[in-house]
Amino acid sequence: MSQPQTAAETAATPNFPGKKPLIISGPCSAETEEQLIETCTQLAATGKVDMLRAGIWKPRTKPGMFEGIGTKGLPWLQKARQLTGLPTTVEVATPKHVEDALAFEVDVLWIGARTTVNPFSVQAVADALRGTNVPVFIKNPVHPDLELWLGAVERLAKAGVKNIGLIHRGFASYGNTEYRNAPMWHLPIEMKRRLPELPIICDPSHICGNRTGLAAVAQKSINLDFDGLMLESHIDPDNAWSDAKQQVTPQRMAELLDGLVWRHETTDQQEFLTVLAQLREQINQLDDEILHLLGRRMQVAESIGTYKKENDITILQTSRWNEILERGMQKGDQLGLTHDFIRKYFDAVHLESINRQNRVMSK
Ligand code: PEP
Ligand code: MN
Repeated sequence: MSQPQTAAETAATPNFPGKKPLIISGPCSAETEEQLIETCTQLAATGKVDMLRAGIWKPRTKPGMFEGIGTKGLPWLQKARQLTGLPTTVEVATPKHVEDALAFEVDVLWIGARTTVNPFSVQAVADALRGTNVPVFIKNPVHPDLELWLGAVERLAKAGVKNIGLIHRGFASYGNTEYRNAPMWHLPIEMKRRLPELPIICDPSHICGNRTGLAAVAQKSINLDFDGLMLESHIDPDNAWSDAKQQVTPQRMAELLDGLVWRHETTDQQEFLTVLAQLREQINQLDDEILHLLGRRMQVAESIGTYKKENDITILQTSRWNEILERGMQKGDQLGLTHDFIRKYFDAVHLESINRQNRVMSK
């Protein structure tokens, strides 16, 4: 990497999180000592889990919902740690949480999605972390705001936190039904591009909000070279006090992890590299052709702009815009391109056309 530009870019140390893939599992919430110990020992017995998680303090939408067992659950987690030999992680949202978690030997902390959205809270947690050397994962903020996520990384890095990781848990989005929190993969991909040194793991449980989608989301994150997974597990998922629909038993967790195909970022196999280079060359050529065509398309748009200007006609004509979209969708169907993609493509092309025409008109 070239010169570090921000404190965030210098935050990573090479041996955090230590193992790839890093698998973190445990219940959404610690409920009782028995539930926590039983879940954790069963998870450890699978041999597939590297770190145990448990929510001790739960940020809930409304008062009166289960708001976490509180500090009383920390000795249970400490006991699970001793029994299994596995490190532990909990969510912290206040300086008191940090203090209590560290007093009970919690190894790694994480900042939840509802905390990442609030710079005051993130700063308070960052200040409480000053002088400790505990690693901290930062979940993406609830809504799709990359700067806020980056800002949280920066606040922790400035407070001297050396080991920072990211957790992608999806984003709230209006009208979304397939996921509890839409993955919006382009956002974690952009975080990886901006902060290539920071490990990033995926939390399929909070993305899916159900059990059926977990494996597909987990696999997709592996395909995108994520560094690990955080998945919720409970000995009796249906009766969990929080997030019952998305938790799976430790046994099911083991099956789920067994079913995943772990991929490497690269290989030194010569044949694979040669074929890949040829295919990439094809992609480069096609991209060049597409860009060339787009350049020509914009020139035509400018000619239309000039012509419209001479005749005092508006740039935007809704009926024409609908016609373009409909044509695009039909062509896209024949070519196996999704409506979602066609819509995004034409939105971008149309906006660029409008801007070009606007420039012509204001000359
Ligand atoms: C959790 O991990 O249980 C949790 C509350 O997650 P999030 O902050 O992603 O909602
Ligand atoms: Mn949860």
